[in-house]
Amino acid sequence: MTPVPSNWPADYHSHTRLCKHASGEPRDYARAARQRGLPELATTDHGPTPLNYDPLHRMEMEQFPEYLGGVRAAQREEPGFVLLGIEADYFESCESFMADWLAAQPFDLVLGSIHYLSPPAPDRSEFKPLWNFGGIRGTWKRYFELVGKLADSGLYDIVGHLDMLKRNGSRLADKELRECALPALDRIAAAGMAIEINTSGLRHAVKEIYPSPLLLSWARERGIPIVFGSDAHQPDQVGSAFEQAVRLARESGYTDSLRFRGRVAARVPFDAASGAHGPC
Ligand code: ZN
Ligand code: FE
Ligand code: FE
Ligand code: ZN
Repeated sequence: MTPVPSNWPADYHSHTRLCKHASGEPRDYARAARQRGLPELATTDHGPTPLNYDPLHRMEMEQFPEYLGGVRAAQREEPGFVLLGIEADYFESCESFMADWLAAQPFDLVLGSIHYLSPPAPDRSEFKPLWNFGGIRGTWKRYFELVGKLADSGLYDIVGHLDMLKRNGSRLADKELRECALPALDRIAAAGMAIEINTSGLRHAVKEIYPSPLLLSWARERGIPIVFGSDAHQPDQVGSAFEQAVRLARESGYTDSLRFRGRVAARVPFDAASGAHGPC
């Protein structure tokens, strides 16, 4: 692994073996982050949901204490370095569960992500994949409608991988993207939420960071703050392509990103000396 300068932003998106499609414990990711010279790591595994929502890609509710234990162990090993986060799905009808459950946990930060465009089927087995919902345009429209609802819910701190819908290469023309995305970005700004610059797109077929430069420039125009995430599903992916992510952020006019403690954010310039975390 190539170390990056210690003034690089924190990695606020990483998984663990508990989600059934990643490997390693929080401490493995924390060690990798330390080795790369990152200032901080948040563990944000796929959170449990009621209704047996997508159980194959997340921890069970009963495993949450184990998750907490793993993060606490990493925190003991790396004091002040590891944050307790969660990647919580947004889907219609999730609000009452999420409102109670998220508020009851001692999270430092909560990523809100959309992975599916329809709520759990009554038989709890079927999910429509992101990229198959009434044609490309209809799918993007639906996706950004859900992003708007996610923002309006006020339940999350950060929108995860904002345009992950492009994952398999389905893109919209700029004009259509503008029509779909701007209302959602306005709602994110109104909610005081941040968005994530997520480098996992470079590992997917689309080979592009989430979000695209155009979306990021629209977010910047609206004063929406950013965080950085690798979405690491194995420890050696921690901090991956952060050089490129920082370049993208700078080109869009960003000079700082958010750092969290107890779901309270502080702005930290990503060219500041490490350890410059302000009071929050
Ligand atoms: Zn995952
Ligand atoms: Fe995700
Ligand atoms: Fe993730
Ligand atoms: Zn993710």
